[in-house]
Amino acid sequence: MTEISSRYARVLYQGQPSYVLVPPTGPAQVLTAAPWVGGRPSGAELAANATMLCPATPSKIIGIGRNYRKHAEELKNEVPEQPLMFFKPPSSLVDPGGTVQLPPESERVDYEGELVVVIGQRCRRVSPSEAQAAIFGYSIACDVTARDLQQKDKQWTRAKGFDTFCPLGPFIVQLSDASRLGLQLLVNGKICQDGSTADMIFDIPTLVSYASQSMTLEPGDVILTGTPEGVGPLKHGDAVSIRIENLGELTFGVTGQP
Ligand code: ZN
Repeated sequence: MTEISSRYARVLYQGQPSYVLVPPTGPAQVLTAAPWVGGRPSGAELAANATMLCPATPSKIIGIGRNYRKHAEELKNEVPEQPLMFFKPPSSLVDPGGTVQLPPESERVDYEGELVVVIGQRCRRVSPSEAQAAIFGYSIACDVTARDLQQKDKQWTRAKGFDTFCPLGPFIVQLSDASRLGLQLLVNGKICQDGSTADMIFDIPTLVSYASQSMTLEPGDVILTGTPEGVGPLKHGDAVSIRIENLGELTFGVTGQP
């Protein structure tokens, strides 16, 4: 049984971005800093209608491609022999409830619902067994992808990197185990992806360890762990919701030209 220890968010509090501890009941507690750098309750409580912000401000957003067998198959790709890493820029982040903007350069922009690992401790060259200690918690993201540009460009920087291509949040939740969580993505209320993190090819400790072999992972960095099958296109006016067991629900809208 998965145990939830704590749940955090980042909100606007008195006009400033602030981390909060969100208890199961009662008002959220404003923290003095991000929880992974030792933030403590300041004594202030949050009003119920605060604006939610992306719960991390990562120095890097690492994506993992083709980490679910049936998703690799649906796009007629081979399953990779080692984790397939790519970057999304921090400028792609969108706050919970925000809007993905479809860029004019693409005719096919897809949703990919994904579990997010949030790093809590600086680490480099950790083993899979050491990786758990570096993980602060888990969240939800959409790895929005311009599928036509991904195929055309060969490498993925542009296809994965447009502004607004990474809705993330709303919470970061500390779980004892994220290895078998149900994940669903709905477009306009219809279930389009219905998977489980149990179906990852490379598990979470392996992904953290692998990434840390080449780059120092910093507190607040995030790893998007890949998407199950069922990816499909987004269009202007869509309302998207991603639900992961114990992590809550991330919602966002979609718009055409700005
Ligand atoms: Zn993805």
